[in-house]
Amino acid sequence: MAMVKSDAYGHSMIRVARVLGDNGCELFGVAEMAEGVALREAGCEGEIFIFLGFDPGDIDYLFTHDLTPVVFTIEDLERIAVAQRRRGVTIDVYLKFDCGMSRLGFSPSAAAGVFARCKSLAIEPVGIMSHFPCSDNRRSTSSTQVSEVFYQIDHHDPAGRPLVKSICNSGGLLYQPASHGDMVRIGISLYGYYPDGSTGRESDDGQGLRPAMRCLSRIIQVKTIAAGSGISYGHTYIANREMRLAVLPIGYSDGYFRSMSNRAEVLIRGQRAPLRGRICMNMCMVDISAIEGAEVGDEVVLLGRQGSASIDADELGEWSGTISYEVLCALGNNNHREFLR
Ligand SMILES: *Cc1c(COP(=O)(O)O)cnc(C)c1O
Repeated sequence: MAMVKSDAYGHSMIRVARVLGDNGCELFGVAEMAEGVALREAGCEGEIFIFLGFDPGDIDYLFTHDLTPVVFTIEDLERIAVAQRRRGVTIDVYLKFDCGMSRLGFSPSAAAGVFARCKSLAIEPVGIMSHFPCSDNRRSTSSTQVSEVFYQIDHHDPAGRPLVKSICNSGGLLYQPASHGDMVRIGISLYGYYPDGSTGRESDDGQGLRPAMRCLSRIIQVKTIAAGSGISYGHTYIANREMRLAVLPIGYSDGYFRSMSNRAEVLIRGQRAPLRGRICMNMCMVDISAIEGAEVGDEVVLLGRQGSASIDADELGEWSGTISYEVLCALGNNNHREFLR
């Protein structure tokens, strides 16, 4: 299953789903009903899974848009049963179990009761799902325990067929080969990143995954400031020498986190230039003293390659105290996007 929630981690749910669908992907995962509706209306023909439940008033979309709910409360099972009777049709339902994440899901110890309730409601679950809390850590022993709890949930449909079982995200796919089950649900690795922040160059092909997203800006003003000048709000950086500064039209409202102030670097003419002073809402400043010829209009790479240099989302995550996932969502979902292929 391709996880395309949150606008495909900033890459565009509809464009990503279209490319994946054209290449044979049949299962798509989103967080909210509205995302599933939008994806269906954009022409996605695969099975679309809704992971975060639904407002009771929105239940008809499950039927009109052929969406598959991953259910985690008895109340939602009851609502689905009522709607199925009212409409005279059934839909596929998956059940979510909480096997150690302390997030969404029925308790595995309640499984027998949940299946009994399904039966009395004439709901036939197609599969069960859970989620790993620590699968991004190759050395954590948590995943083995969580996996054991999950695979012990035992149920067969009336025909004796076992349920579809799915617990793996990208970390599970890459680092928990014994837990793959019937279906894996991958997000971050689709977009070219390893969940543990590694480059994956130790992988079989020595290449690793390749990030899909680049984020570009440009220089809109160049100036020379005297030694002793303070830069940006609060003067958190004071130039200790004469300095050539470039102003870039990107700031925290564009998803370029303020917490990276005085820490991040960008690429200009294939070289790294350090950010100086605080990142503003729509602008920031970089030191281009060392970059010969840098001028207004130059391309600036915030994320991605330029020549032989590159900056990836894990590095931006280190500068801002977060992870690649959040960097991709923030930059992708707050800026104009162009799709190269
Ligand atoms: C987002 C999500 C995934 C994908 O996680 P990645 O670490 O990005 O691969 C899998 N399952 C569920 C339920 C999710 O919400």
